[in-house]
Amino acid sequence: MFITTHAVLGALIAQQVPGNPFAALVLGIASHFISDIIPHGDTNLYKDYVSGRRVKSSIAYVTIDGILTTLFVLFLFNLGLGDSKLAITMGIVGGVLPDFLVGIYEVLRIPGLKWFHRLHFFFHNMVSERHDMTFASGFAMQVMFLAGLLSLIV
Ligand SMILES: [Zn+2]
Repeated sequence: MFITTHAVLGALIAQQVPGNPFAALVLGIASHFISDIIPHGDTNLYKDYVSGRRVKSSIAYVTIDGILTTLFVLFLFNLGLGDSKLAITMGIVGGVLPDFLVGIYEVLRIPGLKWFHRLHFFFHNMVSERHDMTFASGFAMQVMFLAGLLSLIV
């Protein structure tokens, strides 16, 4: 899923445990794996990236997504979050951490991260390897999902 979607979901979950940053981190990580099970149209994008066919567009996609995530976090923290800033930070960290580690592995091939990369794609491909939606449908689905999450956060 979009890094933005994972970040928003992590923030929303953290709002439910405002006094417990550690729980927010753990739940944020769990939310990443669980939400990645839902097919969201990026299986072919990743396959094309791995095969070297659409490397530039994959990088552009992740760059745009990363910038959107940054803007979301800025926006969220300008709302004034009271005492739950640390928990929300940890929820967002947990939400995006798995993709961050996958990205690190893709770039640096650190052997110690191979198991994590596998674990991530075990969840990510659980359903979508056989039944993925088109990129356009996955995009539309996530925009609606994001709008729903944002309406709950704000
Ligand atoms: Zn992921």
